[in-house]
Amino acid sequence: MRKKQGKNLKIIVSEGVGFCSGVKRAIKIALAAAGRSSSGVYSLGPLIHNPQVVERLREVGITPLDRFGKGGGEIVVRSHGASPAVLKRAGDKGYKIIDATCPFVRKAQRNAQRLHRRGYRVVIVGEKTHPEVKGIRSHVGNKAVVVESADQVKHLKFGLKVGIIAQTTIPGDMFAGVVGEISKRAREVLVFNTICSETARRQERASVLAGRVDVLLVVGGRNSANTSRLKSLCRSICPKTYHVETSDEMEGRWFGKGSTVGVVAGASTPKWLVENIVDTLKEF
Ligand code: SF4
Repeated sequence: MRKKQGKNLKIIVSEGVGFCSGVKRAIKIALAAAGRSSSGVYSLGPLIHNPQVVERLREVGITPLDRFGKGGGEIVVRSHGASPAVLKRAGDKGYKIIDATCPFVRKAQRNAQRLHRRGYRVVIVGEKTHPEVKGIRSHVGNKAVVVESADQVKHLKFGLKVGIIAQTTIPGDMFAGVVGEISKRAREVLVFNTICSETARRQERASVLAGRVDVLLVVGGRNSANTSRLKSLCRSICPKTYHVETSDEMEGRWFGKGSTVGVVAGASTPKWLVENIVDTLKEF
């Protein structure tokens, strides 16, 4: 128990915290598979970008796998999806694939393929190194260009036809900026806005809350791209925004007496971690 500091904080938790539907679905699929198997199952990389949850899943027989061994077994494809080449390699090594790709990500993969087949130069707006983006790109034979900002577009040459899609968790204004810039440079532009509606709502609620509070806490894995984006978005509105994974990372000096503290969380952050944060805030 922390020594009470008498800060009397006013705590506001954003509506809709907890796993998004894609993460809930992936966990449900993996738990069902682990329950059926006597030896447990693997996930293709950490099932979600939250170390605390991945540890709990490991305890119930869901083990993240970085490389394929010789033993085979069942392997769950996480909500980010995977490339056809990786899936083939898993199959060749004797693994049975259980696909938990989020339907929003699947839609982005299909739209990229449709654009590619119709002769458009595919542009993915998102993070080059993110597994979801790598997966989408691989669905068009790694021929898509990935851009992270409208500025990057200024240095690129495009053909006549450009097809644009979004990583599912990027901010809407980042996507709009790139679309606007490409529209100045290509003759024909076809846009699929594949930003997931849940992410858009989460970002919207977080920015409204950031405007109402003295301090904002963004709860989630440091390896979670959507949590890091929430942090940047909120910090641009509320300079006293802090990213925490667990409640023991919070410091009393962040909060003034009687401060209003907002709490938001990434799509891969479970409700129980947010509840821990709130309980600890009440102790300050
Ligand atoms: S954030 Fe959206 S796209 Fe990503 S897993 Fe969740 S529901 Fe699916």
